[in-house]
Amino acid sequence: MERSSRWQDWRWQLRHRIRTLADLERHFQLVPEEREALTAAPGRFPVAITPYYAALMDPEDPRDPLRRTLVPLPDEGRVLPGETEDPLQEERDRVVPGLIHRYPDRVALLAIDRCATYCRYCTRSRLFGGRMGTRHWQEAIDYIAAHPGIRDVLITGGDPLLLGTGRLASLLERLRAIPHVALLRIGSKIPMVLPMRITKKLVRTLRRFHPLVVSLHVTHPRELTPEVERALARLMDAGIMLGSQTVLLRGINDDPDTLRALMQGLLQNRVRPYYLYQCDPIVGTGHFRTPVAVGRSLIDGLRGHVSGYAVPTLVIDAPGGGGKIPIVPDGIVGRKGDRWLLRNHQGRFFHYPDDTAPESDRSAGAFESRVDIFLAEKQDLTQDGPK
Ligand SMILES: *Cc1c(COP(=O)(O)O)cnc(C)c1O
Repeated sequence: MERSSRWQDWRWQLRHRIRTLADLERHFQLVPEEREALTAAPGRFPVAITPYYAALMDPEDPRDPLRRTLVPLPDEGRVLPGETEDPLQEERDRVVPGLIHRYPDRVALLAIDRCATYCRYCTRSRLFGGRMGTRHWQEAIDYIAAHPGIRDVLITGGDPLLLGTGRLASLLERLRAIPHVALLRIGSKIPMVLPMRITKKLVRTLRRFHPLVVSLHVTHPRELTPEVERALARLMDAGIMLGSQTVLLRGINDDPDTLRALMQGLLQNRVRPYYLYQCDPIVGTGHFRTPVAVGRSLIDGLRGHVSGYAVPTLVIDAPGGGGKIPIVPDGIVGRKGDRWLLRNHQGRFFHYPDDTAPESDRSAGAFESRVDIFLAEKQDLTQDGPK
């Protein structure tokens, strides 16, 4: 692709996003399915890709993982039985417009309903095309100010870094002025798809609001380009904590080598991998979802093979609004008396003598019988430890 002299200007990148079939045809050799997704129901699957991010995709390979996250397929029109527009029932926990209060100490503030790019598996696609504006901010800020139990405000959307720097600063200032708000967080994909947005001016602004966490939506190790690495270093050097969130996506990042490279690459850039999400059952995302067992074994494949800091927590954001539930490898097999039977990443058994536990805690019915079954089937666990 031809690089404009204004390539490094984030507003230029936004104005020149790929939005239409004609734009796509100019950048990619489309396959018939991709063309069909855009012609069958015009406007049904909105597309937005920054020229920067499009340049990372293989124009000739329809299976390119980055291309699959942003270029729609007709599969998006297929609705599977368990899928809904709002499986996490965020609307139910919405206390005022754009504010979700699900956990006692923290809230999610949907500050904006637009993004730089449109991910095909978006959890909040229901918001787009609305006219959210910023008028609802004040009501959300008033609610937070009136609830002293709220310590942590996650600013999300949409993508808050799409806001102009002055606007964003005004929001952060008003939140920082609330004495009980200890932590501010921003959830964003922009450092990965529009790294030129991470200007010195933006970072000078953000650093006034410590402690501030930026939670990066990352998908694939190929996103970690030199431009992105510079943007992350700029944020990190300003004392902004960086964490990551990744959605597990079929054919895109659901294999051990890709995930390992991604998590190690993030850590290399001082980003702490935070959450790995099982893909939410959003309408039209069946072609992206992986079996839960795949996620579990992928996490097993990381644990013990990469630094602990590079292992994110696999979570399912529970349909029905139950919040994020960790899907952890079964380290605890069971308990008998004061001994806990544990299993490590190799599948070997170990026990821990929990002899400070009160006597009353030591009989754990179902657990005990599980231990007995394991011992009978697997190996003889003696007082001296595993064989
Ligand atoms: C994910 C989420 C949060 C933040 O949860 P953490 O586990 O602290 O990262 C807060 N509110 C809502 C509604 C969320 O979905």
